[in-house]
Amino acid sequence: MTDKISTPIKTKEIIEKYGFYFKKNFGQNFLIDQNVLKNIVLAARITKDDFVIEIGPGIGSLTQFLCDSAKSVCAIEIDKNLIPILGDTLGGYSNIKVINEDVLKLDLNGLIAEEGEGKKAKLAANLPYYITTPIIMELLEKHADIESMTVMVQKEVADRMQALPGTKDYGALSVAVQFYCDTHIDFIVPPSCFMPKPNVDSAVITLTLRQNRVSVKDEALMFRIIKCAFGQRRKTLLNGIYNLGGFNLSKEDITGVLEECGLDPKVRGESLSISQFAELSDIFGKILKI
Ligand code: SAM
Repeated sequence: MTDKISTPIKTKEIIEKYGFYFKKNFGQNFLIDQNVLKNIVLAARITKDDFVIEIGPGIGSLTQFLCDSAKSVCAIEIDKNLIPILGDTLGGYSNIKVINEDVLKLDLNGLIAEEGEGKKAKLAANLPYYITTPIIMELLEKHADIESMTVMVQKEVADRMQALPGTKDYGALSVAVQFYCDTHIDFIVPPSCFMPKPNVDSAVITLTLRQNRVSVKDEALMFRIIKCAFGQRRKTLLNGIYNLGGFNLSKEDITGVLEECGLDPKVRGESLSISQFAELSDIFGKILKI
């Protein structure tokens, strides 16, 4: 156990000591509330058996709590100016490895295979908000060897991840997240818990990878259709698939597929459930192979 750095005074001291300045383009809003940090670790259900990956450790505020609770932690930080600071703030821990890399360029499964001793990782992070969706999508679509992700995101993004068909927040992110994961919003965090304060409320959400997914023959084809469905929200699903799908099918062919699924050709994509997207994709798959 090392002295915690996540108080407003300590955080300020560290920033001044190293002449560090916050970079908006890296989404740098550091947590300065110990209760929030403790609750992230609790929500992630981290135990002394766990290998944890953290994206964006910043000056190490959450990392310290993770190191206290986990077997080992690997933290991936893009900003090279933070690496010497982390060397200082995490110097008292022997179960941490810091990697100076862009998480979107890293071979995460390679890292988990190397560091995880045969176990899947748990992910815990206060994510940089400018790339929340690309990070989550990358981890899901590449089938990262992760059992759960407990992440701080903009509240509005957490709402989208949980949204149900037919609601205004329902979109490609909702379908992808719910196809792969069970979702649970753990708690809401106000701007006052960060330095500097973001302009929006935040939420901690836990995504637990499902053992049983909706069955679909070709995941990539289903996600291609989902992108068409939400690419032109005001258009019908028929027009979305016709305009954006690149399937080389006539409107009549597409209408036939929709009808075979029991769907009205005037339906909009936002009203379809994951099972309906999967069924649609399987019927498209049959037609495309003819
Ligand atoms: N974990 C710290 C905390 O809670 O105080 C900092 C969180 S801050 C919201 C996001 C962190 O992600 C910053 O340290 C930022 O430099 C880092 N970051 C931004 N883009 C990144 C990327 N592509 N790969 C890895 N880290 C990134």
